[in-house]
Amino acid sequence: MDNETAHVNILDSMARFQNKTVLITGASSGIGEAAAYAFAREGAKVFLVARRKDRGAAVAARIRENGGTAVFHQADMADRSQIAQMVADCVAEFGGLDIAFNNAGIDGVFDVNIPDHPEDIWDDLLAINLTGVWFCMRHQIPAMLAQGGGAIVNMASMAGVKGFPGSSGYAASKFGVVGITKAAALEYADQGIRVNAVCPAVIRSEMADRVFGTDEAVKEAEAASWHPIGRIGEPEEVADVVLWLASDEASFVTAETIQIDGGLGA
Ligand code: NAD
Repeated sequence: MDNETAHVNILDSMARFQNKTVLITGASSGIGEAAAYAFAREGAKVFLVARRKDRGAAVAARIRENGGTAVFHQADMADRSQIAQMVADCVAEFGGLDIAFNNAGIDGVFDVNIPDHPEDIWDDLLAINLTGVWFCMRHQIPAMLAQGGGAIVNMASMAGVKGFPGSSGYAASKFGVVGITKAAALEYADQGIRVNAVCPAVIRSEMADRVFGTDEAVKEAEAASWHPIGRIGEPEEVADVVLWLASDEASFVTAETIQIDGGLGA
């Protein structure tokens, strides 16, 4: 069995999410793609959303080829009407919505102080990373209430709980995600919906390549100096925490932000 098949082998699986419908945004690569395979491996019907049709459709096809249930849906998290349609189509396709992983996001700039931070990048960061997640929850919550509850996991970042220079737009968006996660969690804590956020440090992905470059040795050395654990994280290590938060094993966990950071925040 090659590595790719190993990620999506549905037959050898546990089934924490059997018959659960899981919507994942930003599922065409990186952490979202890893989460798609992980949920599918445990029996979930996954509704995969991204802008890049070819990449996202290929992830869904790989899951189906390995015995899972997956649909790809193209949508832009900067477009409110597309977000509404995304949730409606998920409910129409699978008959409900049990779990949402609001993961799609962009990185913007990481070495520019506030006076020089491009305004258009600030606008895009807030539109996609923050307002996009808010609109996702705006439509996901009623869908979950209609069936008696659910679980939402939002993608924040270590940059959403700790200050870093040079990325104020990204920081604003991710600190915002932590805030709306806590607000939503408290609004629906007694109505069967749990809402949590994950806060990764540097995770191997296209985003990490854009920030640190593609030279593995340089990336590892730089990242090792950041993370006490001495390496960068893997997308699957984030997916594992997302699955736990979405599962019944985390039934008393809500309004929480979990750092997945190799000790960076300590
Ligand atoms: P990635 O670039 O591989 O994945 C980002 C995903 O979001 C892609 O599928 C992309 O197509 C999608 N996306 C971006 N803008 C979108 C839009 N407007 N509409 C729909 N989809 C859109 O990188 P990743 O690291 O997997 O990033 C996933 C999330 O994790 C992001 O929110 C990012 O901020 C967060 N994060 C990443 C790291 C890291 O080091 N990689 C650390 C902390 C947080």
